[in-house]
Amino acid sequence: MNAKGRAGGPDGGRIRVALPNKGRLSDKAVALLEQAGLRAALRGDRALIADLGQDFQALFVRAADIPEYVADGAAEVGITGADLVAESGREVAALLDLGFGFCRLAVAVREDAPARSAAQLPAGTRVATSFPGVARRYFQSLGIPIEIAPVTGATEIAPHLGVADVIVDLVSTGSTLRMNALREVDTIMTSTARLVANPRALEDPSIAPAISDLATALESVLRAEAKRYLMANVPRSRLDDVRQVIPGINGPTIVEILDGDSWVAAHAVVDADQIYQTIARLKALGAEGILVTRIERLMP
Ligand code: AMP
Repeated sequence: MNAKGRAGGPDGGRIRVALPNKGRLSDKAVALLEQAGLRAALRGDRALIADLGQDFQALFVRAADIPEYVADGAAEVGITGADLVAESGREVAALLDLGFGFCRLAVAVREDAPARSAAQLPAGTRVATSFPGVARRYFQSLGIPIEIAPVTGATEIAPHLGVADVIVDLVSTGSTLRMNALREVDTIMTSTARLVANPRALEDPSIAPAISDLATALESVLRAEAKRYLMANVPRSRLDDVRQVIPGINGPTIVEILDGDSWVAAHAVVDADQIYQTIARLKALGAEGILVTRIERLMP
């Protein structure tokens, strides 16, 4: 609980945040929380529970189990992949797209197979997948009855072993598919990591404000990651042009420089992915002393 004694889990304890204990989403989820000021105080490498700031407690579980834990209320919030939420078919509230863990759930056939799209696959197609729920619903929507061959890993080998005709599997670059002589024919969904919450917890006035604070803190970190803070000394006579180059959020901040005479300092939040162009344009206006820094958090 915080100093005001506000946040409280179901028994007045801390709010539980289910986090992936290993795998692709784990490190980034923990790092994001840390950037937001919530450091998981792990008691040893294999700890399953850790303090997470004052108001929260981290539960480290399998990413695939997180939708269940959150839907059941064993944790009030969690971080896991949108694909795993879809597969679980459980009711959780998606609060935030966290941007990392990008992948797509794709349908792939053997390179020598005739199908050019999933809709061309015949009834009775055998589908190897560790996403049976999503795969079944997808082929149902296409009106194609399929047989599922459930697998838990190395799905790409199934069509070559005669276990299945096609696979439904996660792809990021597609190189694993190509290496295994498979060809992607459709994308069922794209996925990134999400902050999810138990819908009942969001209705509970003793819990909801802390969940909302957590979402806001994470969102401010994500927003800040895409931005930089830029400072530059610019000729006073070029301020109209400077405004065009660095409009910032509400126009650039212009600060007097002691003994600056014809120079002022301009500060603005700028897009990180445009920084090279922005600097070049400022230089062309005669700017000097350009300084760019990272932003920890950004609230609009
Ligand atoms: P894990 O099996 O614990 O490593 O976590 C797998 C989760 O990471 C998936 O369910 C996706 O949400 C995400 N992910 C992101 N990129 C990939 C990828 N290329 N392959 C598999 N999973 C990925």
